[in-house]
This record gives sequence, structure tokens and C-alpha cells, in this order.
Amino acid sequence: MAEHTNGRADWTPSSWRTKPIRQCPEYPDLAALHKATGELSRLPPIVHPHEIEKLKQSLRDVARGEAFLLQGGDCAELFDYCRQDAIESKIKLLLQMSLVLIWGADKRVVRIGRMAGQYAKPRSSPTEIVDGKEVPSFRGDILNGYHLEDRELDPQRLVKAYNHSAATLNYVRAAISAGIADLHRPLNWSLGHVKDPELKAKYTAAVQFLQDMLRFMHTIGADKSPKLDTIDLFTSHEGLLLEYEENLTRLMDVPPALGQQQAAEGSEAKKQYYNTSAHFLWIGDRTRQIDGAHVEFFRGIANPIGIKVGPTTPTSDLLALLRTLNPDVEPGKITLITRYGASKVRDLLPAHIRAVEGSEYKRAVIWQCDPMHGNTRSTGTGIKTRRFDDVFSELQETLRIHKEEGSYLGGVHLELTGDAVTECLGGSEGLDEDDLSTNYTSFCDPRLNERQALELAFLVADSYRK
Ligand code: PEP
Ligand code: MN
Repeated sequence: MAEHTNGRADWTPSSWRTKPIRQCPEYPDLAALHKATGELSRLPPIVHPHEIEKLKQSLRDVARGEAFLLQGGDCAELFDYCRQDAIESKIKLLLQMSLVLIWGADKRVVRIGRMAGQYAKPRSSPTEIVDGKEVPSFRGDILNGYHLEDRELDPQRLVKAYNHSAATLNYVRAAISAGIADLHRPLNWSLGHVKDPELKAKYTAAVQFLQDMLRFMHTIGADKSPKLDTIDLFTSHEGLLLEYEENLTRLMDVPPALGQQQAAEGSEAKKQYYNTSAHFLWIGDRTRQIDGAHVEFFRGIANPIGIKVGPTTPTSDLLALLRTLNPDVEPGKITLITRYGASKVRDLLPAHIRAVEGSEYKRAVIWQCDPMHGNTRSTGTGIKTRRFDDVFSELQETLRIHKEEGSYLGGVHLELTGDAVTECLGGSEGLDEDDLSTNYTSFCDPRLNERQALELAFLVADSYRK
């Protein structure tokens, strides 16, 4: 097997088992776990290496500063979100946001959904108090259920996660190939909620510009090219539950380089381990220990990967992580997803940028801003929320710092939903604490609603145009 281990001689899909692990579930029934992982290991891949390599190619462009990466979706995706309306509204929102970003940044946009597999959640505590009783924490639908009677770990949920992930992606592919994202379809840009007249005039002008552009492309027939008719939407999730990830990691032929000739007849195809559960996976803030199980697992897969970077990431860890996870310095292989919080980004990001850009990884990583996870707070009544202004301020400060340092902010990573939820405060609707209870449906972190997400896209686009 040694020649098939991506050049990492001592790596296998299960070598993580020899390393210390955080956030690891202790399944009480090992026979049931074994049965579920056995089932998983026989099921076909959810995504194909051809798609993974296509994404890698696009991410190389992002690293070079020629494209922008938009990644977004739920904090915790539930099996119940595997529904036509929820999937369609998310595709449409990501498309609309990316049109705004294309207009602003004047670059191609690569889209990745936090969807079709975002079912496992790291928790700060294994238990929580509900109605005065200590119960196991909800760890995401792949592990246990939110309702109190479902909090025990159930290994069959691994197979259910596979099924829901496959069904979601199946509908994403079908809806896109049927033209849900056709650019000549009218999009609903309703801006009625925007109260500030100056802001409203600005957004209306931008939408008018986009509509004129789309009409123009239609008139000259430019929207008939297959490239513009459909969008690519890739999938991603946090690679947290390694029992699941291991069993969907398969040794497969590396597709011939896109746009190039098939390998000469008789020449043996090169093989690599692809994690076929999603196109892109990331390592969370709580599981990125250099000597830990998650980093061990991630160093052997050929997919593009993300690493969350925050206030607890020592600068010295960054290069060690990059050298372990991307020893060949492949451009675009690693996305550094920075999430410090609006009040800390100025103190912490510059040193991280200098360490990376002053090394062999200069222009090889993608810098992506996650302005959500450093800005979570609780209201006086204990509701988890985020202020739109903090989210925007971290993003704007991040853009500014990259400009000062001469590096490129290549993307944003957001928690959002196409539904009209009331989970984050502020935005042009002016949601306040009293509004939070109107439609708070997240089972984990608060998400931007459709209007807040679009508004953020407008604000980012505007910063690029300045
Ligand atoms: C998340 O992305 O939902 C998350 C838990 O983030 P982090 O690992 O950065 O805390
Ligand atoms: Mn989250």
C-alpha cells in the first residue's frame, strides 16, 4: 500500500486512531457502531474525484487572487432541512450573493455550501442543563437528536447522515441542471425592508446595474454559453466525526488533469485517497492540535481543506500545520478560515499573515474571513446571538489588514439561511433583542437571514469598489 498513500508512507484512513483525539463520541454499543460503519464502507462515494479536482483548480485561482470564495450555510444542518424549499432557497441566496460579489470584486466567484453533510457539531461541554436537569449536549444529527428523548448516541445516525447528505446533493445537482440558477430568470431582489434611504438608493442602483448587465448578456447571447447558464455549487462540512469520514475515504484514480488528454493507454492511473463525503472539509477550532487525530486524518486526503484559525492559534502552530497538511505547497490546497472577533482581529491577524506570507506558503494559501464565530454573545436572557455590526466590522477590518499587509482576502465563510429567521441582531431591518423570539429556529449558532446575508454581500462589494 505504501505507494498509494499520497506520498505519506505511514498514513492510512484509520491511522488517526493511534493519536489523541478531542470531541470523540463514546458509543456505548460497539457492535451497533461496527454494523453502521460496515454499511458506510460499502456505500458508493457521495462526490466524485473529478468534482473535487475541479474545485481544487478553482481554488488555485482564488489563492492567486484571481477569484473569490463564498462559503455559507447552516451552523448545524438538520436531517429535516433535506427539503425542496430549504435547499432551493439556499442555492438562490448563494447565487444572489455571488452576483453582488462579482459586481463588487470584479472577479469570478467560487461557491461552496455548508450543506449536504454539516451534521456534526463540536461542543464546549458534553452535557448541558435543561429545565434544571443535566442531559447530554446536542452534538448534531449525525450523533444524537435535539429532542431530549433522543440525546443518547445512536450509530445508525451515521447511515442516516449519508442518506440525507446524498439526497440533498442529488437535489442540488438536479435543481442546478434544471436551471434554478439560470441567470436570465428574474431574481427577487426585494429591498422593501431597507429603512435607511441612502442605503436603499445604493442597493437599488447596484441591483439595477446587475439587471442591466444580465439583460445585456441575454441580448448578445452571452448567457447561452453553458458556463453562464448554470453555477457550480460545491459542498463542505467540518470533518469532525472521523468514524464517518474514514469510511467514505476511498483510494481512487486521479482524474486526468482537466482539459487535458486521457492518460496514455497502458500507463497506470495514479491513485489518491479522496474523502468522498464532500468536496471540501475543514478542521474546527477545537480539533486542530498538530499531534492530534484530526490533523492526522486530514494530512492524507487529497481534497482541498480548511483550517479554522482564531485567538487560540499560536503563530508558531500555523506553519507547522501547513507543513503537515500541505507539504508539497500546493496553491489553494489550504484555506485559512480566520475567526477572531471584531475586537481582536486587529491585534491578532497581522502576525498570522506575516508568518505565512513570509514563508514558502506565500500566495499558496487562501485567506478566508469567518466573521461569525468570534462574535457570538448571549443576550441578558441567555439567547445566543450575533450583532450584524460586529460581523461586518470584523470583515471590514480583515479586508483592511490584508490590504495593508499586501496579502489577498480571498473569501468569506458565513452562517446563513435562505429563511426569514430572526437570530442575528441589526442589519437594515433593525432587528433588536425583542425580535429574536419571532423566528429563532437554529439549533446551534445564530445565522444571518436572507436580507442580512445579501446586505453583507453588498457591503463587501462596496468595500472592493472603493
Ligand atoms: C462552526 O463553523 O460552526 C464552528 C463550530 O466553528 P469554530 O470551529 O470556528 O468554532
Ligand atoms: Mn457555528
